[in-house]
Amino acid sequence: MTKITIKKGFSEKIREGWPLLTKEMVQQGDYDQEGRIFTAIDPRGHFLAKGYLGRQNKGSGWLLTWDQHEEIDEAFFKKKIESAASHREAFFEDNQTDAFRLFNGEGDGIGGLTIDHYAGHYLFTWYSKGIYDFRDEILHAFEQVLPFKSIYEKKRFDSKGQYVEDDDFVKGERPDFPLVVKENGAHFAVYLNDGAMTGVFLDQRNVRKAIRDKYAEGKNMLNTFSYTGAFSVFAALGGAVKTTSVDLANRSVPKTIEQFSMNGIDYEAQDILVRDVFRYFNYCVKNDVKFDLVVMDPPSFARSKKHTFSASKDYKNLVKQAIDITEKKGVIVASTNAASFDMKKFKSFIDQAFKEKGMRYKIIETFSLPDDFRTAEGYPPGDYLKVCVIQTL
Ligand code: SAH
Repeated sequence: MTKITIKKGFSEKIREGWPLLTKEMVQQGDYDQEGRIFTAIDPRGHFLAKGYLGRQNKGSGWLLTWDQHEEIDEAFFKKKIESAASHREAFFEDNQTDAFRLFNGEGDGIGGLTIDHYAGHYLFTWYSKGIYDFRDEILHAFEQVLPFKSIYEKKRFDSKGQYVEDDDFVKGERPDFPLVVKENGAHFAVYLNDGAMTGVFLDQRNVRKAIRDKYAEGKNMLNTFSYTGAFSVFAALGGAVKTTSVDLANRSVPKTIEQFSMNGIDYEAQDILVRDVFRYFNYCVKNDVKFDLVVMDPPSFARSKKHTFSASKDYKNLVKQAIDITEKKGVIVASTNAASFDMKKFKSFIDQAFKEKGMRYKIIETFSLPDDFRTAEGYPPGDYLKVCVIQTL
């Protein structure tokens, strides 16, 4: 078996439960063999943990067990999937929601793999060649634990961690797409066979519900980086007088029309715009267009023709731009999925933005990942979602 010696300082970190192997942790050993099981040892040769090698973003592999005697085999995978399923009992029983994450990578004990449940259909996402090498054992283990209508998969491991084009069908019966899934009584059209994304980001479920139930009524809402308009749909369902959805991608228009239509909302009464958000902010300032409720959920990193946006560098300025077009006593929902900074830092961006604008505000509510996106205690970056609901004063 491959042995990897971990530097002293990092050995302690692994002992405390840190599950990701990165190359700067390695003192000695070949960490470049995708799919290989390895034992991590400290510089004195003492056992730390066992895992598999697989390149994913900045990682070289994931640790799976801290028990020297535990084998990493089909029985191991089965145990992890059973435990994951038992943690989602409330989701399986919820008759208002049937789209949720069944298995969340290292949070459920296997970094590099997620499994999402969409109304009886499952989507496996493999984040490295290394984890994909265990595909047959993992699928076989899964089939022993849960019934399914169909299984689809996404491979996200070309050299840049991007989606690998493929026919994503694995087994079961091919359904007609879109699947119609439920979320807190609303509906979404979901595609498991159409590129890297399915049409809905499940981790924002609680934020969408709060927008519908608490923040939308009677409001003029702007949804920036709107993708398929999921936040707009919930705002409209919550009684927003109008929603405006802004996204750079042409596909966002038919996708957003589809999501509105799934929910019996007249999309012609809503604005759905293909625009660069940064230019749209400028347009609003010039034309004195303002909103009561502004939602911002940008990608952590994005490049458009005129702009490079990096959440860790530019979020403060984004908030400043949002302040300019938000009515007094308005609400800004600021969201980020950037794993490179934590909630404290995120709040400091918001604070700086308001200070520089000479404006007062109050954070009235915050969100992190919902319960189905289980996280590992020893791995804070896995808890990536940060959402602040900000009241402008
Ligand atoms: N908020 C969405 C998810 C956003 S995904 C939801 O809840 O479903 C990020 C989106 O930002 C993508 O659809 C992408 O097309 C869009 N995007 C990236 N840069 C942009 C820019 N400069 N202006 C407008 N949209 C942008």
